[in-house]
Amino acid sequence: MHSDLRAELIKQFPAEVVENFDKNGESYYACPTCKRAVTHGMDKCMGCNQVLGWDNIKKKNLVNGMLRGRIEFELPSDFNAGDCRKCPLSYIGKSGTDSTYECPLNMRGACKLELI
Ligand SMILES: [Zn+2]
Repeated sequence: MHSDLRAELIKQFPAEVVENFDKNGESYYACPTCKRAVTHGMDKCMGCNQVLGWDNIKKKNLVNGMLRGRIEFELPSDFNAGDCRKCPLSYIGKSGTDSTYECPLNMRGACKLELI
C-alpha cells in the first residue's frame, strides 16, 4: 500500500487531542498528528484531516471525577435563594411527625441557586 494512502487511512481512526502551551503559557488544544491548534469539540483537524478524539480532555476537565450539569427553570418573582418552600425542586419529606421541605440536591441550608 502506498504510504500516503496508508497515512490517510490511519487518520480515519480518532486520535486523542493533546493539550499544548504557547509561548505565553496559554494552553490550547492541538491535533496529535500535525500539532496545529484545534477548537474544542472539533471532530476533524482542518489541517491534516485527522479524526479527533476528546475523551482524554473530557476526563481531565472532570471535577472530582464528576461531570457538571446545569438547568434553568422558572421561579416565583418573590423567591430568594434558600427558600425551599417556594422552590419547584423541593419536595415534602417526613421526619417523624414533622413535614419539611427537602432539597433533592442536598443543598438545604446551603442553597446554590443562582438567580439570573
Ligand atoms: Zn492535524
